[in-house]
Amino acid sequence: MTIRLLWFFQAFSCGAIGVLVLLFSSGTAWSGDLQLFRIGTGGQLGVYYPIGDALARGISSSGSADKMIAVAQTSGGSVANVRALILGDIEAGLVQADVAFWALRGEGPFVGEKGWPVRALASLYPESLQILVRRDAGIKNINDFKGKAISLDEAGSGTLAVMRIVLDAHGLTEMDLKPVYLKPEFTTERLVRGKLDGISLVAGTPAQAIADIIGPDFSLVPIETQVATDISRTHPYFVPGVIPAKTYPGTSETPTLQVHALFLVREDMSADFVYQLMSAMWNEQTRSLLLASHFQGRSITRESALDGLTVPLHPGAVRFYQEQGMLEGEDGTQ
Ligand code: GLU
Repeated sequence: MTIRLLWFFQAFSCGAIGVLVLLFSSGTAWSGDLQLFRIGTGGQLGVYYPIGDALARGISSSGSADKMIAVAQTSGGSVANVRALILGDIEAGLVQADVAFWALRGEGPFVGEKGWPVRALASLYPESLQILVRRDAGIKNINDFKGKAISLDEAGSGTLAVMRIVLDAHGLTEMDLKPVYLKPEFTTERLVRGKLDGISLVAGTPAQAIADIIGPDFSLVPIETQVATDISRTHPYFVPGVIPAKTYPGTSETPTLQVHALFLVREDMSADFVYQLMSAMWNEQTRSLLLASHFQGRSITRESALDGLTVPLHPGAVRFYQEQGMLEGEDGTQ
């Protein structure tokens, strides 16, 4: 119901309600020449959603992607987006580079599964692990998490997968905490009321979930650079980074762990279609929409589109980047 409503609003903004109602009633994402292109994002207070929405608007209004209506859908996050892609419930998704890597190989949240045929269109922007705690909880670093009520985000999120690695790097497991598995839209108020000690989110900066509530009663928890460096040795898609000073009012520079956000599709999507999509994604109008959508929109550039990829590019994307002179090898090698 929520998704249908969301589509409805998106459709309204695209001026295509009639068309979408037709698509719903036929129960398919494809109808004649018209193609519905659903982009899986994250929660409403994250960064995937505004960025996914800008991409959707850019793709929809571009003449180069023939008769396509793109819409952004909220979701549980990276892991949920991979699963929805595989099931055919969405056509594309924003996914953390670590989660994409694990999906391809049947590792991490996908352990015991055969490995899923996900392919990259582009690397988008860096995401940072952001942990916000109440000052009165007495948490200075992750070691202080013992016995604290911390939200690790929901099962479909990439955040939970990262938090498990970070806890492990400190010799902790979820069982050492009072873990809560909810998205920020359900936890920020609890944090403010003192029902939770902290919340975590792997997202671009600034994240609305944090910006909405931050003040003198809250602080960001650092991931020490040595710990982040050690993690990146065994998991090279993570890199040590910082949340710059003043990202949120009153915050100082905070060391953390970062990972790229990737834009993914399935391997079996037509290469011609993906090629058209790439032209739509990288045109000037989409760029303006991305710049207006969120601060991280400025990080999304064609020049950095191949940075931090952890899965192969889709053949349609290879063709596009080759024509741009960004790739030499036919298989997408640089
Ligand atoms: N990286 C987060 C996840 O996969 C989502 C971040 C966002 O919504 O911006 O769970």
